[in-house]
Amino acid sequence: MATKKQVKKNKTTKYIFVVGGVMSGVGKGVASSSLGKVLQFHGLNVSAIKIDPYVNVDAGTMNPTEHGEVFVLDDGYETDQDMGNYERFLNKSLTRDSYMTTGSVYQKVIADERSMKYKGKCVDVVPHVPLSIIDQIERAGRLENADVVITEIGGTLGEYQNILFLEAARMMKVRHPGDVSFILVSYLPAPQKIGEMKTKPTQYAVRTMSQSGLLPDIIIGRSEIAMDAKRKEKIAFSCSMDARDVISAPDIDSIYDVPENFMKEGLDTRVMEKLNIKKSSYKTNTVAVKEWTNFVKKSKNGKKEVSIAVVGKYFDTGDFVLSDAYLSVIEAIKYSAYHNNVKPNITWVNSKHFEDGPKGEKPQLKPAYLKQFDGVLVPGGFGSTGIEGKIRAIKYVRENNIPYFGICYGMQLAAIEFARNVVGIQDATTYELDSQSKKQIVTILPDQLEKMKSGDYGGSMRLGAYTAELEKGSLAAKIYGKPTISERHRHRYEINPDFADTLTEHGLRISGVSPDGRLPEIIELDSKTHPFFVAVQFHPELQARPLDPHPVFSAFIKASVKNSKK
Ligand code: GLN
Repeated sequence: MATKKQVKKNKTTKYIFVVGGVMSGVGKGVASSSLGKVLQFHGLNVSAIKIDPYVNVDAGTMNPTEHGEVFVLDDGYETDQDMGNYERFLNKSLTRDSYMTTGSVYQKVIADERSMKYKGKCVDVVPHVPLSIIDQIERAGRLENADVVITEIGGTLGEYQNILFLEAARMMKVRHPGDVSFILVSYLPAPQKIGEMKTKPTQYAVRTMSQSGLLPDIIIGRSEIAMDAKRKEKIAFSCSMDARDVISAPDIDSIYDVPENFMKEGLDTRVMEKLNIKKSSYKTNTVAVKEWTNFVKKSKNGKKEVSIAVVGKYFDTGDFVLSDAYLSVIEAIKYSAYHNNVKPNITWVNSKHFEDGPKGEKPQLKPAYLKQFDGVLVPGGFGSTGIEGKIRAIKYVRENNIPYFGICYGMQLAAIEFARNVVGIQDATTYELDSQSKKQIVTILPDQLEKMKSGDYGGSMRLGAYTAELEKGSLAAKIYGKPTISERHRHRYEINPDFADTLTEHGLRISGVSPDGRLPEIIELDSKTHPFFVAVQFHPELQARPLDPHPVFSAFIKASVKNSKK
């Protein structure tokens, strides 16, 4: 059997494109990530790319209530939440080469044109735009030395927006004959009244796909219930395919069960066959398989529950609760709960409910409502909505010994609450709420002030991975078990160094700082004062992985479990 090293020498990178049919939101991202995972089980080095067809250059300027969380990479690129799924499933950190939008592609083409990279040629939408897309996909594969690059084309077949990306995919097939494969993730409705699973929408999706010069090698049929053999044959017959290439992907309790389902359905074998990857050339990564199965097992083991309240602002839009804005936080809580052998029970609490109504009505909820939870988390956020409510919630959990974990805005507000109610600075605030106040416990970073003045909002926050030094003997140092950490950031404001000493003198410990000592990155209360009160300026949830739960989340869950026993 050839070893991996031998294969690598004359390695050909294989490319998979995942496209969506019938409707959006059926889980292309999870399907792509899970496909990546099962290929990893075969010892393949997998990389993933997400294409979002919108014109925004990145996801940073979009409202998370509508578009879901902004996922920040180590290099500071602000991307779609699907990138989080890729990193979590593949258990690796990705770079900006793994993400593109119509905006970022055009920006590159125009920059190349301005710098004479096209050497005086007329630059056309076709072929130059698809060629630039191809360039990036190939580069991502090269940089990662990938055996397989999975590229998910966002949106649904038939939309105007993704035409150029589909054209790039078609050109790739010509450029790399035998090394490119197409997977259609489609939806199969089974309306109760009809009592049958319908395949026609998927047939139409394939027809639409053919208009771009593409046909699926494999169809992953997403549905509420499993697809039977008859439906598979019907799709295979009408779309000129082999029934083994029609994969059933019904709804299941946990997204982490998807890889196992794919293996059962033989997706890995079929994909490898299509791409001419000989199973014998790669060694099954038994460690990876075992780690994953253990994680999945563990995720089902917990009998006891830990109840966590996430006090935020993005919930309740119309009749829907949008938790997508905090997707990584939810996943990070899950991993650490599994790690602590408990089942997470997350409750969304709209912080506005702790505030007076617009006409001075009494708040819908008293802060004591939080008493029932084992732990309380205030995640990141922007703007002024629900801020006073969050501060009231933090005051309550601080005074009533409920484990508290603050993230980003959740740290800034914890510092403000402390300044108001412990130090006695009644009007303590943040620049974000009052840019004129003299009592800015949280203030703007100097370089950020310039950017805001010039209206430079895109990709201009303090973004990506920065290191921080932990204070010896602090809770933070104990939790991390090392003196220096690297965490991902996304913010414009920071605890004001001018107030740092005052806060410290009153008992708020600044246990993590930037290497130059200027920026407070972690605050905590002494364990003698409070069972668990830790807040961080960065976003630890972005680095929490199923196989590598985040230490601060794990410590918070542990403290919450302890609190529940009382
Ligand atoms: N709005 C705050 C800032 O910009 C916090 C950001 C966040 O929570 N991600 O600093």
